[in-house]
Amino acid sequence: MVQIVWFKRDLRTVDHRPLHEAAQRGPLIPLYIVEPGYWALPDTSRRQYSAISSAVEELGDRLNALGAPLVVRVGEAVDVFRDLHRRHSVTRILAHEETGNGFTYARDRLVRRFARQEGIRFQEFPQFGVIRRLTSRDDWGRGHANFMASSVLPEPKRLTPIPDIASVDLPSPEVLGLAADGCDRPQPGTRASAIRLVDTFFAGRGRAYRTAMSRPLDGAKSCSRVSVPLSTGAISIRELLQRCYAERADLSRRAECDWPIPLTAIDSLVARLHWHCHFIQKLETSPDIEWRAQHALHEVARRPTAPDDPVLIAWAAGRTGFPFVDACMRSLIATGWLNFRMRAMVQAFASYQLALDWHASGLLLARLFTDYEPGIPWPRVQMQSGQTGINTPRMYNPIKQGYDQDPSGQFVRRWVPELRGVPDALIHEPWRLDADALKAAGVVISGTYPARLVDHMVAARAARDRLTAVRHQAAYRSEAVKVYDQLGSRTRRRPGATKSRDHAKDAPQKDQQLQLFSDQ
Ligand SMILES: Cc1cc2nc3c(=O)[nH]c(=O)nc-3n(C[C@H](O)[C@H](O)[C@H](O)COP(=O)(O)OP(=O)(O)OC[C@H]3O[C@@H](n4cnc5c(N)ncnc54)[C@H](O)[C@@H]3O)c2cc1C
Repeated sequence: MVQIVWFKRDLRTVDHRPLHEAAQRGPLIPLYIVEPGYWALPDTSRRQYSAISSAVEELGDRLNALGAPLVVRVGEAVDVFRDLHRRHSVTRILAHEETGNGFTYARDRLVRRFARQEGIRFQEFPQFGVIRRLTSRDDWGRGHANFMASSVLPEPKRLTPIPDIASVDLPSPEVLGLAADGCDRPQPGTRASAIRLVDTFFAGRGRAYRTAMSRPLDGAKSCSRVSVPLSTGAISIRELLQRCYAERADLSRRAECDWPIPLTAIDSLVARLHWHCHFIQKLETSPDIEWRAQHALHEVARRPTAPDDPVLIAWAAGRTGFPFVDACMRSLIATGWLNFRMRAMVQAFASYQLALDWHASGLLLARLFTDYEPGIPWPRVQMQSGQTGINTPRMYNPIKQGYDQDPSGQFVRRWVPELRGVPDALIHEPWRLDADALKAAGVVISGTYPARLVDHMVAARAARDRLTAVRHQAAYRSEAVKVYDQLGSRTRRRPGATKSRDHAKDAPQKDQQLQLFSDQ
């Protein structure tokens, strides 16, 4: 019996059910496939490959220690399985279910078909609280809770290898055509980094989590920063959640003055880890939301943005003329990370004030995120762009956000150095400086720093009008009910409410829900 444990974005040995099951049955080949077709996609990037490579190397060390070296192959998945089957008569492939982009969805179907044709048993196991073939969204919460409450699987004590299986080194990013992208030191995707982040978070780094998470500078230090190792699968959500529960229980046994972080910080982290699965479930249920607006009438109203659109290019490069937006984009380019609120702001700004199609801007963001996890950005990008029909559209005022989240302009000065000399009071609106003050600050608008691409107030009103035109159509509400039934969160359900009455709370009814700017 020859078993293959196929590692994808689950690069760990702890809480790994396919490995656990295979280890109990006999000899196995632990396999990782580098797929050049995947790394050629427009939503993938060198920074993501760097995070994945670090986790694959670490996994290789662990598997060596357990006795079954990792086999790395480069090519299309079906070709790799065909070759291994020809040489070793594979009887079983074990893997985690993956809720990825269209490429991995199609590839998994091909592997399933190949396995069926060859009489190989292909067994897939859930790895998040994401439920495949979910029949009703009403059942999701219970399924998720049950999964998260079940035991974290220990690392197998010993693995039985199949000898003499050829393996290759991980290809360099250059071989895969992944050009340098401005992020010199991407966050690693390893388990060791995950454990370090989690330990330091609970030991005190997360003390100011709830307040700092909204600010890009403080958030970088106080947020958990576990998104990268979660995206490589080096640590499981279940393990992380159970650690949160254990820390919470530990705190409640101690006097409050001894708490390294407040209980509310742990509760906030737990809530966010819940969102992680909630959003991925949307892509699992409806894989086409990677390309299509969730609400059918928003899909009809879409106007594509060309990849070489100068406004799109200026936004992506951090050259919109809005210092806070530009600082966020430049920081994301250089570090691969941005806090949640600022991700929401830059996406909303692109879709509303700059009137860019959400997919074009979403693609550019996706490849800038080292933690790219397709099931989170695509539903989120749509949500921040008013495409879902079941969420209140929220536009962000980049000036207000700047003064709220970066009052002294420290973040702007760091990432937009050409504005260093601008006084704090106008750091987020340099265009309001008079000629003498501009000269004193060394700023030439349209010279050293770009002029604003739009008047943000005028642009926001135009965006609101565009949204209103769609939302006033007769079929809007019934389409929104369909989206809610399939993908909407059930956490806000009124006790005893029927599904449609429940939805009445979330669905748009009147224009007052179209806030021009949100405080959030
Ligand atoms: C447009 C947009 C795109 C995003 N794309 C991604 C992505 O590709 N990968 C990704 O991991 N997160 C994404 N997020 C969610 C969120 O911004 C990041 O998870 C978070 O900033 C990562 O930093 P952290 O690990 O310190 O998070 P923390 O704030 O400490 O949160 C802990 C974990 O909870 C989960 N989480 C937090 N916020 C969210 C959220 N809003 N939705 C779903 N899960 C959440 C993540 O797993 C995160 O690592 C996106 C948000 C927006 C608005």
